[in-house]
Amino acid sequence: MLLREVSYARPSTVEEAVSLLTEHDGARALAGGQTLVNVMKQRAASPDVLVDLADLDELRAISVSGTTLEIGAMATLAAIMRSSEVEVSRPILAATAATVADVQVRNRGTLGGNICVNDPTNHFPPLLVALGASMTIRSAVGERVVTAEEFFVGVFETAVGEGDLLTRISVPAAGKGTGDGMAGVTLGAHGTYVANAAASVVDGTWRIALGCVDAVPHRAAVESALVGADVDEAAVRSAVEGLGATLDPPADVHASAEYRRSLAETSTVRAVLQAAEKARG
Ligand SMILES: Cc1cc2nc3c(=O)[nH]c(=O)nc-3n(C[C@H](O)[C@H](O)[C@H](O)COP(=O)(O)OP(=O)(O)OC[C@H]3O[C@@H](n4cnc5c(N)ncnc54)[C@H](O)[C@@H]3O)c2cc1C
Repeated sequence: MLLREVSYARPSTVEEAVSLLTEHDGARALAGGQTLVNVMKQRAASPDVLVDLADLDELRAISVSGTTLEIGAMATLAAIMRSSEVEVSRPILAATAATVADVQVRNRGTLGGNICVNDPTNHFPPLLVALGASMTIRSAVGERVVTAEEFFVGVFETAVGEGDLLTRISVPAAGKGTGDGMAGVTLGAHGTYVANAAASVVDGTWRIALGCVDAVPHRAAVESALVGADVDEAAVRSAVEGLGATLDPPADVHASAEYRRSLAETSTVRAVLQAAEKARG
């Protein structure tokens, strides 16, 4: 199907982009277009104005500031895979980007676009919650920073509202004693997830977020049962046992709710063991 007629703007500054998004009802930011253009073709979205972020180089920057890894919203998944800053500070982001879809999607798709869509089957929402990331959002009235938990609001809904522009994602840089893991079952080798878990341990304290079991990444109720990174498989299995029963996941053509509960438990065990191994160095 052809696209409905749409106006197109290509701002050269972040301020101009925010003004365009604010001034026009029905304006939408265009990042890599990997989701937006497809949903426009299906007429599931019909923006009146596309505000193309392609010229905003400052939104592509990846840098380390003190103990924080700063990733511009327009950094592509391919750029994240190649980034030495990511490799040094939080390598799981590059490893995860490498498993998303195919070369074309990774070359065009951006981290900002991935999380602004908030498709519950996407890779990055649970990972960024587990890593304790925060998001910076610019609007006509200024800038605000929200935690990853506050950012993801519902299926395809985030804290980015009308007139808002996500500018960067901040992730604490990993120090000694930090380990991250991500595990799950995908539809095919590089497909979206059926269920997943992301786990992170920093100085013995765990953060675990589950994907595909709720509208937003779900903090697993087993974090406090895990203390320290020095956990073996039996201890992790024991801590995670019964996690599935606390969940109310959806059922669909890919998995029943019961199967998702089981996958959530198995994925959590695997993600925690991966993270523990990394933390031990
Ligand atoms: C075939 C295919 C397979 C895929 N498989 C996977 C997968 O397995 N796992 C996975 O995680 N992802 C997958 N994706 C999604 C992909 O990784 C991209 O994340 C996704 O397409 C959105 O990124 P984008 O940069 O293309 O955003 P766009 O499509 O340009 O934008 C998406 C939405 O976010 C908004 N937006 C984008 N950037 C901003 C911003 N800075 N501020 C405010 N709003 C913004 C747009 O207005 C739009 O509503 C797949 C995509 C395709 C096409």
